Amino acid sequence: MEDPLGQKQSPQVFPSMTLSHLSSSAPSPSAASAFFSDDRSGCSRLRFHQPCSPVPVFDLDLRKIQIFKLGLLELLCVTNETGDDDPEEKSFSRVFKIGFSTKDEAKAFHLAFEQWKLGVVVAKTGGPLENGSLTTPKSKFDNKIDATSAKMYFHYYGQLLHQQNMLQDYVRTGTYYAAVIENRIDFSGRIVLDVGAGSGILSLFAAQAGAKHVYAVEASEMAEYARRLIAGNPSLGQRITVIKGKIEEVDLPEKADILISEPMGTLLVNERMLETYVIARDRFLIPDGKMFPSLGRIHMAPFSDEYLYVEIANKALFWQQRNYYGVDLTSLYGSAFQGYFSQPVVDAFDPRLLISQPIVHTLDFSCIKEEDLYEIDIPLNFVSSVGTRVHGLACWFDVLFNGSSVQRWLTTAPGAPTTHWYQLRCVLAQPIYVMAGQKITGRFHLVSHNAQSYTIYLTLSAKTWGAGADQGGILQTFSCKLDLKEPYYRLSQPQPYVLQQDQQSHTQLMQSQELSPQIEDGTGPRVAIIPSQISEASEQ
Ligand code: SAH
Repeated sequence: MEDPLGQKQSPQVFPSMTLSHLSSSAPSPSAASAFFSDDRSGCSRLRFHQPCSPVPVFDLDLRKIQIFKLGLLELLCVTNETGDDDPEEKSFSRVFKIGFSTKDEAKAFHLAFEQWKLGVVVAKTGGPLENGSLTTPKSKFDNKIDATSAKMYFHYYGQLLHQQNMLQDYVRTGTYYAAVIENRIDFSGRIVLDVGAGSGILSLFAAQAGAKHVYAVEASEMAEYARRLIAGNPSLGQRITVIKGKIEEVDLPEKADILISEPMGTLLVNERMLETYVIARDRFLIPDGKMFPSLGRIHMAPFSDEYLYVEIANKALFWQQRNYYGVDLTSLYGSAFQGYFSQPVVDAFDPRLLISQPIVHTLDFSCIKEEDLYEIDIPLNFVSSVGTRVHGLACWFDVLFNGSSVQRWLTTAPGAPTTHWYQLRCVLAQPIYVMAGQKITGRFHLVSHNAQSYTIYLTLSAKTWGAGADQGGILQTFSCKLDLKEPYYRLSQPQPYVLQQDQQSHTQLMQSQELSPQIEDGTGPRVAIIPSQISEASEQ
């Protein structure tokens, strides 16, 4: 059965029960059937019909219903509603008693109620489900993510202010908009799945580009705001269904031709949402379906930034006081010093602080396995362009929209227009001395943890110059362990533009990286495009 939207997602039917409207003047039980379904705006409803009548006797908003068990065969259904007609009576309750002939029917109805209330679309519909068939085992998400972390995470995304923060990142949202609109061909007439829809903005873009239908899956309370935003744009909204739930747990009535998502966190992988994106691909994308974005790259290069190093080291100086209200704090100095250097620094830095060409690690979302994201191990190999002190490793990322008409990159590179991701730097507690032309080697090892982030293990090595250099030099190796979940947001600080000793090599580096300022492409909002990357992409 198709609903008024023409969606294939059928209502779930419970054909036989007794219904007593207890809050009416005639509360005696009568035969009825019940339908769970979504209305035009994607809200779930419970409708009661009398036998053979196509018109419901009661049409209830599932969000306003609570169900209580009266016994094995009876449920009490209480609705809290607002009276539109009578301004005197602002809110009122209606109470129904529902009777079943078997306890399995009662259980199945109760389970269906919970699922529809959560916004889960049940793919296999058409009749009451077997007793207990909807009880889902612990999902892939719940198995690997700590419940408290998940609760805080979805609480954060459930707030409009955080969605606004992302929407107001015009480099981000503008690039998505341009990538979708310029590639209408990939969306027009297609079934789209928006993975982690948030406010629903990408679903609305996909509908603007002519999508046949968009499923907007969002796990946080933001799903309700997305429904409202979508209902407020009816010409697009009639082709969008919001589903509240985790990608790992919901079912869809049909497969998608294309996925759209913004699953990137700091350093691309923070939040571990790329795993959700890959799970969405495996569960819901047709073979050879498209992914927007289709790949992401982590870029890494060593940097020299004396100001940053001193600033971090100085934070721990507090613990060097020997007489803090008569207390000697110095026994905690070492731990405080280590603690400050275990926080990756998030800010926008001048690309002239980089002392070598970056290296790139690519994650191909179209074929990477979810498990490949649990641990990411990147060997490092650089050649310093200057003689300087190396203070650590700078990282940023970009993602590719490999559209059939236009390829677009969204970049977070230093020197490109700043995004809300900024860049990330891992600072060594002990700097390394290098000469121009010297090799720097190391390892960047990311290990995921159950708080939706990663532990970073960084090692950088270079040979010493001076005594022993003619015998190959002594290796200076420094390692550090950082928690990507606990960054130091260094955004209110003024950005020092350090002009290094060897300015010429820095200028050459800049030119070779082609970190151009933002350019106007004339087709959409101003977005960051790195010409070298576009040509690289078109060669793929
Ligand atoms: N697509 C929106 C929001 C991006 S933020 C936009 O571009 O503006 C990522 C969103 O994904 C958050 O709202 C978060 O709650 C949601 N999300 C994260 N993990 C999810 C999961 N496993 N299932 C469903 N939604 C998820």
